[in-house]
Amino acid sequence: MRRVFLETYGCQMNVADSETMAGVLERAGMTLTDRPEDADAVILNTCAIREHAEQRVLGRLGDFARLKRLRPDLIVGVAGCMAQHLRARLLDQARVLDLVVGPDGYRRLPELLRRAAAGPVAEVRLDRDETYGDLEPRRASGVRAWITVQRGCDKFCTYCVVPYTRGRERSLPLADLIGQVRAAVAGGFREVVFLGQTVNSYHDGTHDFADLLRAADAVDGLARIRFTSPHPSDMGERVIAAIAGCDKVCPQVHLPLQSASDTVLRDMARSYTLAQYRDVVARLRAAVPGLALSTDIIVGFPGETEADFARTADYMREVRFDSAFLFKYSARPDTRAWRQAETVPEEEKGRRLERLIAQQHAISGAINDRLIGREVEVLVEGPARRGGGEGAAPGRGDGQLFGKSEHFKTVVFDDDGTKAGALRRVRVVGATPITLIGEAVAAPPPEPVLLRAGA
Ligand code: SF4
Repeated sequence: MRRVFLETYGCQMNVADSETMAGVLERAGMTLTDRPEDADAVILNTCAIREHAEQRVLGRLGDFARLKRLRPDLIVGVAGCMAQHLRARLLDQARVLDLVVGPDGYRRLPELLRRAAAGPVAEVRLDRDETYGDLEPRRASGVRAWITVQRGCDKFCTYCVVPYTRGRERSLPLADLIGQVRAAVAGGFREVVFLGQTVNSYHDGTHDFADLLRAADAVDGLARIRFTSPHPSDMGERVIAAIAGCDKVCPQVHLPLQSASDTVLRDMARSYTLAQYRDVVARLRAAVPGLALSTDIIVGFPGETEADFARTADYMREVRFDSAFLFKYSARPDTRAWRQAETVPEEEKGRRLERLIAQQHAISGAINDRLIGREVEVLVEGPARRGGGEGAAPGRGDGQLFGKSEHFKTVVFDDDGTKAGALRRVRVVGATPITLIGEAVAAPPPEPVLLRAGA
């Protein structure tokens, strides 16, 4: 067992978990390969948050089933939330599988892979103490390091599988995390993003999230700090003061709302009302002038009436998020909402979703248009890609660089030789709802910024 192909689905937490797995595998003498055809084992690190994500993984397993027919000794594994969620069902139904490993089993991954060569293996026990805090991840290259500061979740929102797939909330010790931040900076990363399901409820028994932000702010060589996703109910004064008071913490918060109807929020067990959410936003905006705010919204939750939906649309026009991740409700087995009868037909969910997408598109466009003529500071990530997606340069293609502004907006500008990892002042000369187009306004830094090689 030498070469492993690892493919990641779902959220950034899963990407960070894959980096932990990669570190575990490499320390065991295994190497990662980019092509499943070259691998002795393939592992899909999966997401169970929406049915669509599960369908994609099942489709991908079909590809590996074909590969396994040609190479019967190939080990096929499923890791992550879907492994935890579907467990034995996966082993039964997807006969191609040799290994099912949940989010708390990655420490033993090399051993599990070896055992799987002799017959199907399932390791899905949840471990209240497992944080992987002592394991060095193998980070992907880039300017941004994702650091998991907390695992699991205690909130039990009625639609969400995370407390069942990732277990109860536990935080990594602050000293370990600051060690990870220093290691990331030493490895050439300029920005860290702290990850947790409710990241601002971080507490290691002694230190809270405000302490973590302030300790990271003091790390030399680090340019920027971000975090995702905070929970509105945990956004206390200490955390807001730390966001406002730390120079390196970016003026950008992703604050999931889910719905602006108090009835729907209650049925989701979100633990706040719209008035309380509104108050958090007001306090954040008062403390951090120019704050960029984004959110998550679910439409079509069981019981959501046209009036409930209208409240969400109205509030989104009022608060004017910079951007929003908008989803149709997707019932997940084993959650409390699973037992509630669906009341919003799929077509109606689609209609509501389309209305919010169009509305948010217009708001995002108007917010970005107002930035034209202003200067932003861009953390350069590399050449802009042709076509759609992050870092795209609409209508321009090659010869441009891209990066993120302090407000986490993608900015593209003509390549002037600025190296990845450098901070660059850029004047905004054009905008779309998802991208700012800019012109560099100052000379590039004389010293090239050293980035971690390879990876
Ligand atoms: S806060 Fe709610 S939605 Fe977020 S991970 Fe926890 S249970 Fe899921």
